[in-house]
Amino acid sequence: MSRLSVTVIGLGPMGQAMAAAYLDRGYDVTLWNRTAARADALVARGAHLTASAEEALRANELVVLSLTDYEAAYAILGQAPREALSGRTVANLTSDTPAAAREAAAWLAERGAVQITGGVQTPPPGIGSAEAATYYSGPAEAVERHRAALEVLTSVDYLGEDPGLAALYYQIGIDMFWTGLVGYLHGQAVALANGISAEQFLEHAVKTMDFKYFLEFYAPRIDAGNHKGDVDNLGMAVASLSHVVRTAEDSGVDASLPAAVLDLFRRGVAAGRERDSLTSLTEVVRKP
Ligand code: NDP
Repeated sequence: MSRLSVTVIGLGPMGQAMAAAYLDRGYDVTLWNRTAARADALVARGAHLTASAEEALRANELVVLSLTDYEAAYAILGQAPREALSGRTVANLTSDTPAAAREAAAWLAERGAVQITGGVQTPPPGIGSAEAATYYSGPAEAVERHRAALEVLTSVDYLGEDPGLAALYYQIGIDMFWTGLVGYLHGQAVALANGISAEQFLEHAVKTMDFKYFLEFYAPRIDAGNHKGDVDNLGMAVASLSHVVRTAEDSGVDASLPAAVLDLFRRGVAAGRERDSLTSLTEVVRKP
């Protein structure tokens, strides 16, 4: 039986974790990275570092890409002659916009390669665990053919053929992640300014950030376009957030983050949604 093998291009913290997971599972791992020294620890474990991106592409049918953005992918793949890409399946686990993912899939198809788009939903320490998941989209046949290799990294959450879909789901999630996490950090800045440590506030933060009840309550209402203000309304939210802004200012903390949210609430009120639920913001923010 031939040995399992894979090429990994891109050795930031994520690519390094991916290459290490393949080594752990006994794969022959070929690597290329712009900064060769980032491969040292993996080479010491038996991975093969090539001198060029072309050589790394030619080494295996499955090529895992883990780069900062798709610009970096073009910078690397563009160095190789077209034939080096022909016949490859590129699992592009680089995050970027859905449009960039669709464009790259077409660019690769012109060169005889198939892109599987991936959106990884775990930080590097989660790589190698089936509890972590990655959104995938692209040709189902390619995903199925490489399922075992993809499952070395995380479990596979396949969404459909559109190469932009995995990127879209990823961006929706990361939209919520960044804004939610920065909300947490802003709250901690107010806490610290008042002599309350992050550890002291931790149990309260965990409870406050547990949105499960709200998400399950709101999701069917959002889908039904039901923005009835029977449990919350934007008028109340404006008053509440004004207190948050003033508390931050009184604490000597920059209030531009809650002020931006307050501005959004006020735009909702100006649009006539004062007595409607916060969920009406899903309509307020949409451009016609
Ligand atoms: P990094 O930004 O640290 O990845 C850097 C990699 O991209 C390095 O290999 C770097 O090369 C390469 N690179 C960047 N620009 C260029 C360029 N112009 N030419 C050639 N190579 C380039 O990201 P991570 O490793 O943290 O993540 C990789 C991907 O995974 C990203 O798209 C990220 O959004 C996504 N992701 C990351 C998570 C995380 O927690 N880290 C979580 C979920 C997804 P060099 O070493 O030479 O600088």
